[in-house]
Amino acid sequence: RKADIECGVVVLGAGPGGYTAAFRAADLGLDTVLVERYAALGGVCLNVGCIPSKALLHAAAVIDEAQHAGEYGVDFGKPKIALDKLRGFKDKVVGQLTKGLAGMAKQRKVRVATGCGRFVSAHELEITGDDGKTRLLRFEQCIIAAGSQPMKLPGFPWDDPRVMDSTDALQLGEVPKKLLVVGGGIIGLEMATVYRALGSEVTVVELMDQLMPGADKDLVKPLADRLKKQGVAVHLKTRVVEAKAQKNGIACGFEGDSLPEAKVYDRVLVAVGRTPNGGRIDADKAGVRVGERGFIDVDAQMRTNVPHIFAIGDVIGQPMLAHKATHEGKLAAEVAAGEKKAWVARVIPSVAYTDPEIAWVGVTENEAKQKGLKVGVGKFPWVASGRAIGLGRTEGFTKLIFDEATHRILGGGIVGVHAGDLIAEVGLAIEMGCEVADIGHTIHPHPTLSESVGLAAEVFDGTITDLY
Ligand code: FAD
Repeated sequence: RKADIECGVVVLGAGPGGYTAAFRAADLGLDTVLVERYAALGGVCLNVGCIPSKALLHAAAVIDEAQHAGEYGVDFGKPKIALDKLRGFKDKVVGQLTKGLAGMAKQRKVRVATGCGRFVSAHELEITGDDGKTRLLRFEQCIIAAGSQPMKLPGFPWDDPRVMDSTDALQLGEVPKKLLVVGGGIIGLEMATVYRALGSEVTVVELMDQLMPGADKDLVKPLADRLKKQGVAVHLKTRVVEAKAQKNGIACGFEGDSLPEAKVYDRVLVAVGRTPNGGRIDADKAGVRVGERGFIDVDAQMRTNVPHIFAIGDVIGQPMLAHKATHEGKLAAEVAAGEKKAWVARVIPSVAYTDPEIAWVGVTENEAKQKGLKVGVGKFPWVASGRAIGLGRTEGFTKLIFDEATHRILGGGIVGVHAGDLIAEVGLAIEMGCEVADIGHTIHPHPTLSESVGLAAEVFDGTITDLY
């Protein structure tokens, strides 16, 4: 069969990994086609992930700020929420970014092929459009960026709109009176933050013994305390064992250490993780090996076991984060264009945009303990930060984790407002091989929350120590 489209590089999937790869490939002179199932570019991140969730979290933060402003003599009264307008704001933010991407693709002469792509050989993809028509695309090289999708817990009545995954929750169909969030990870807690601010009574159940497993316990505590104060019920070491659709709601059964009082919820959000799309693209027809769980193995140049086929982003493994995907996308395109490069980043930061935010990068204290690393920890509590006091948000702290012998920074964690922005400095410090003293000697502007990073480099075990 004659190919309908021929190209140097095809990128399968237009999420942050895919569009970055396609744009970079085109900039490096490769004839590039970007295949995407949906009309809008941007993937999960722009359409149903990072961006809409952060737009809604902004609204949630404004609601909370306004409600607390009474404490310093500014009264806004009870917020009135126009859900259609809020949804419109979120959609506008998303639309602005996805339209921008379409423009950037055009500018670079990246051809966009809309449809679902599947391999038919090691050099061919078949693209099926919404109308069922197929096109054959022949490529020299391919970058798989097919991403991931929400994990659907079995046994839930998924055909009932009151059972939601993160995509459904971001649609903001209604503000349920009682919302159950299954899964206390980043996505579940971000959505819990939004719906709580909008007026839902929120219950969270988490299988593990702490919220946001993966982050150090001390980082999570200020968030857990605040959620409690706000009336969010958190049940750890607990799981949902059944969920049935009833006329008056979704009836749930629980098992574990701390059982929620309510059994019936107006809506249930299942946020228990994401599964990669590696098993849905007929990769075997191209000879690409896909692991049991749907992840595709790659080397440090992002090559799969088939050397002219690369894979990047959520489809190659944890952490499933947009900034990891974009970094990998850029690298894969550069290698495809013949550059001699490989993955060199030491660390990838994680951020939960809850209120307070939680951010961490590099080695955690937990990990250090497990691996038997001898580390020192510098910790600065925000109760001593003038800026945090002025903001009325002193529950946060900043900590630096460093090698006890060399004083090199190995990791860091921050909890507090804007922690996600603040963690970038610690990432840079790790990449540059900084010692604690380098951060301590860096003059941070006053009064900012960033000072807390500088001060964490000076305060060990509660006293100012001279490591310099
Ligand atoms: P994706 O964004 O998943 O894109 C893959 C694309 O490929 C999709 O557009 C899909 O339609 C397309 N595709 C798949 N198969 C085919 C096929 N066969 N044919 C054609 N097209 C196909 N990460 C962060 O870093 N920060 C955040 O704040 C953050 N918040 C999040 C909030 C939520 C609610 C969710 C769900 C995720 C969030 N993430 C966040 C994770 C982030 O969205 C992902 O890590 C990121 O989108 C992964 O990018 P990707 O390019 O690998 O794949």
